Amino acid sequence: MNDTIAAIATPAGEGGVSIIRISGEQSLSIVSRLFHSRRNLPDELRPHHVYFGEIRDPATARCLDEALVIYFKAPKSYTAEDVIEINTHGGIFVTSRILQLILDEGARLAEPGEFTRRAFLNGRIDLSQAEAVTDLIHASSERALRSAVSQLKGDLSRQLHAMYDRLLAVLAQLEASIDFSEEGLKFQKREDSLKEIQSLQNELQTLIETYRQGKIFREGAAVALVGKPNVGKSSLLNALLREDRAIVTPMPGTTRDTLEERVRIRDIHINIIDAAGLRENPEIIEQEGILRARAALERSDLALVIFDASQPLDDNDNLLIKYILGKNALVALNKSDLPQAWDEAELRSHFPEAAPIKISATTLLGLDELADAIYRFVMGDRSLQETVVISRERHRQGLVAARDALKKSCESFAQGLSEEFVAVDIQVALDCLGAILGKTFAEDLLDQIFGEFCIGK
Ligand code: GDP
Repeated sequence: MNDTIAAIATPAGEGGVSIIRISGEQSLSIVSRLFHSRRNLPDELRPHHVYFGEIRDPATARCLDEALVIYFKAPKSYTAEDVIEINTHGGIFVTSRILQLILDEGARLAEPGEFTRRAFLNGRIDLSQAEAVTDLIHASSERALRSAVSQLKGDLSRQLHAMYDRLLAVLAQLEASIDFSEEGLKFQKREDSLKEIQSLQNELQTLIETYRQGKIFREGAAVALVGKPNVGKSSLLNALLREDRAIVTPMPGTTRDTLEERVRIRDIHINIIDAAGLRENPEIIEQEGILRARAALERSDLALVIFDASQPLDDNDNLLIKYILGKNALVALNKSDLPQAWDEAELRSHFPEAAPIKISATTLLGLDELADAIYRFVMGDRSLQETVVISRERHRQGLVAARDALKKSCESFAQGLSEEFVAVDIQVALDCLGAILGKTFAEDLLDQIFGEFCIGK
């Protein structure tokens, strides 16, 4: 914690500028040995001013690059330590050369996420805000960005802190009544405490219920593409990718036989899981196909089931239709640009609940309608949109454990058990909330959280 760390904060590559970031007690002295500004002596760098000058190799006094240098004096910096940012020209060799000089002068190369880890350890942000930093960096939709910013700004933290403080007050009351148990007073306090615990339990529950949506905001919704070979799954995927004019990142699948592609729909993104097995086995789907469809369905928030409307239904189709009934499925009839082999009555009898959406992956007919339907399906309850949501499994688990502990404390109350019993569970709930905020933490949890970061962040 006491050493001075340095790293290139911008991505490795050629660009307009690169930023090298240094944090720790020696930042200023290290930079003053390397940076030469015409007007000011280096150790006169004033905080929060930008200086133009040269980075010189102390061994040869030769200029390596012109640079802009900003000194953020502790504690008003990203890490709450002395931080210096050096803006150089964005070249791979020049930035690594300058970084090497900084390391030679006594800094250590930062580990992934170490700047943010220091910001957390120095109390500038709490753990949920630190997590929001990665979420913000990885955000690939408007919604993901908005929820990361809200969490970074402390919306979730404030709510959790408020609950934490209220629980602490309940605990204090309980402990006071353990220590000074006056009969009349004690009864009243028990009622109040119980009410407060119940209300906190409800608030925790409400927050827990935002997880499904929060997770979709952050990670995108998983949509499984299901259908027989040749119904047009790949064509549809390509059409959706083309419709999303934004930059798309093909994501390598997590399992060997599925491929995930990321497509944006409105302000969220969806991860399309193409159950390749159905495509690659041209023989009858039967059990194997259903197994694969089932696996895809289990991993997904929604199954997008594609049929070929230009071909008469066969046994495979009937099997699939039977299987998806009542599931989280949206049905699309592809190849609607060709003469249709299914008549309306047949359609209605097969899909009594909701009419399938007619699309064509080649002419793009119905694609907007399909995107709308997917969006409506995965977004669910729209009233949640402007409230604080949780988006991480770690948070969900902590909240569930806190809620369960409060439930237990209510039961102890109801059974007329003594305050000591109630207090134990309230302490558990407090610890759970504290762990989300990082009031208490284990080093390996920090390693896991900050390991998701890039170097220099
Ligand atoms: P997959 O096996 O389900 O991935 O199916 P493909 O996307 O490979 O498509 C199978 C064939 O159907 C290809 O020759 C496509 O060009 C064709 N196809 C896909 N969608 C449509 C469509 O909407 N209309 C027409 N006419 N042909 C389509």
